[in-house]
Formats: sequence, C-alpha cells, structure tokens
Amino acid sequence: MMSPGTYLNKRRVAAGLSIIDVAALVNTSPRLGGIDKVAWIDRIEKDIAALSPDVVAALSDVFRFSRRVLEQLITIRSYGPSAVQHAPQLCLICGCSQNDACFTGEATCGWASDDVCTACAPKSLSIKES
Ligand SMILES: [Zn+2]
Ligand SMILES: [Zn+2]
Repeated sequence: MMSPGTYLNKRRVAAGLSIIDVAALVNTSPRLGGIDKVAWIDRIEKDIAALSPDVVAALSDVFRFSRRVLEQLITIRSYGPSAVQHAPQLCLICGCSQNDACFTGEATCGWASDDVCTACAPKSLSIKES
C-alpha cells in the first residue's frame, strides 16, 4: 500500500501541478514564505512532515484527492493494514480511486487491472516498453 505522502505526490502530479505551484496556492497558518512552503510540501510527500487535519484541508483546496483515502492511508501507516476494514484500491500510477476517478474525455476511468486505472493503462504499457 502506498504511503500518505506518496499518495499526495501522485495526486499532485496527476493534477498537473509542481510543488512550486502548490506552494503558491496553498494557505498555511502560520504563513510560510514561498521557499519554506516548497520545503514543507516536499517533507509532506516524503512522509516526514505531519499531516494534521488542517494540513489535509489546506491541500484539498489546491488539488483533488480523496480525503477518505488519505485518512485510510494514514491509519494503515500508523497501525498496519488490518486497521482499516477495506483498504482503498488505488491506481499505482496516478493514485486515483473509486472516490476520485480520472476524467478521460467524457467518461471516468475504470480498472484496467487491480492496480492500474484505464486512464493510465496506455502509459504503463509505454513505461514497460521503454
Ligand atoms: Zn491512474
Ligand atoms: Zn484513474
């Protein structure tokens, strides 16, 4: 199961945002300067900085992710996989889930395999080929 930081990293990348973009958009209290924010987001994605409910709320204003999935990942990281009843099914490439599917044209993505969504399936093939 991916870590909470990895999940946020994948959702940020899927939203097409750089860490600098997120740093420019996120509201923190106390206010951090731009460089401090970049370092802070980097620490969040490396699972070093704490993910308090305030932080989760601030990030969810900036890019799309499932707060429920994130909470489950935080629980799994702290207490192990048996601590949640149904571990979330996540795309290993973009981090999308049932609660937070990709939009591909008019439709939302489905599962191409157990851990890759249909929006990412062509990409995963090209990764394997190269
Ligand atoms: Zn995907
Ligand atoms: Zn998807």
